[in-house]
Amino acid sequence: PQTKLPKVGTTIFTVMSQLAAEHKAVNLGQGFPDFPAPQRLLDATAAAMAAGHNQYAPMQGAAILRQAIAAKAAECYDAVVDAETEITVTSGGTEAIFNAIHAVVRPGEEVIVLDPAYDCYVPAIDLAGARSVHVALDPVDFSVPWDAVRAAITPATRMIIVNTPHNPSGAMMSAADMQTLSDILDGTDIYLLADEVYEHIIYDGARHESALRWPALRERAFVVSSFGKTYHCTGWKLGYAIAPPALTAEFRKVHQYNTFTSFGPAQYGFAAMINDEPEHHRQLGAFYQAKRDAFRAKLAQTRFKPLAVPGGYFQLADYSAISDMNDMDFCRWLTVEKGVTAIPLSPLYANPPAGQRLIRLCFAKSDATVDAAMQRLRAL
Ligand code: PMP
Ligand code: GLN
Repeated sequence: PQTKLPKVGTTIFTVMSQLAAEHKAVNLGQGFPDFPAPQRLLDATAAAMAAGHNQYAPMQGAAILRQAIAAKAAECYDAVVDAETEITVTSGGTEAIFNAIHAVVRPGEEVIVLDPAYDCYVPAIDLAGARSVHVALDPVDFSVPWDAVRAAITPATRMIIVNTPHNPSGAMMSAADMQTLSDILDGTDIYLLADEVYEHIIYDGARHESALRWPALRERAFVVSSFGKTYHCTGWKLGYAIAPPALTAEFRKVHQYNTFTSFGPAQYGFAAMINDEPEHHRQLGAFYQAKRDAFRAKLAQTRFKPLAVPGGYFQLADYSAISDMNDMDFCRWLTVEKGVTAIPLSPLYANPPAGQRLIRLCFAKSDATVDAAMQRLRAL
């Protein structure tokens, strides 16, 4: 049949989670916390259901939540964001990414993607009839090679997608990076998709350089976040996009005919969290820093070589001291034979670097899960 995504298979996150379940492996692959969401979130969401918020939420998202998001953007990034015209609540960051691409990218145009890249970008670009143009991040520290980005821009370039903190590497864009990006895009008609779903999972006193802070970026950006990451509830699939009014208007045209609106009761729950328990997002970095540091200390007792983790909840580890297998084979072997599941990086590249021996491990896990995994990894 004539289909639109002939080369796309099942996403690696599903493939690895299914394999983990089949072999009863400890799943450090797909990124999701295995500990509970905050009680206030559960209570406020249940209360919203009991109070009758069980019909369609407004197309653009519940007003109380959009106002809370605007307040959080002001607190965190000194950003002035209009809740009416610049914020749309979506069914996860994934829907926001899809909508942003489809709102502005036309057939035949180009979108610059920095590899390795989260896997939902390229199929959305393909479905828009556009072409992804891939620039590889630095293989050692996953910084952005800006000269290569400049060289990738053509008259057909309509968008660039950046992700900070970065999945899978944890790399964070610096203020200098954002200034460079701003200089590159200023005066062009290239849009920015800033995937900032890990915005609050940052360490060592570092600052998250949101595109909302940079005027030349803000005016052309769709800034995407995900409540699943911030509030330990990835299964609820709620997120949002912030964009200037003209871009938000286009974004909402896609949103309203894609999903129209997103799960309503939790929108009241997230509003309660932001308004009544702001310490949750303020302390999220410290919360995960303890997990990151404990995870790294335990990983040091294995033969894996850990890379730095500036942000996010993933640890990249080099396994070349353990095996010479490619990353797909290694991850399959690790799950099936050794009972621990990780994510290989090669599916996140258009052109995987030859000989790269890296896997991604998620440390958004309880101590018991980490200990069970480490006991197996120490034996390798
Ligand atoms: N972008 C990145 C970088 C992610 O890691 C994820 C979640 N895995 C998403 C977007 C999608 O977020 P959501 O689960 O809210 O759709
Ligand atoms: N974002 C999660 C990860 O990177 C996966 C989400 C998904 O499976 N779609 O592991």
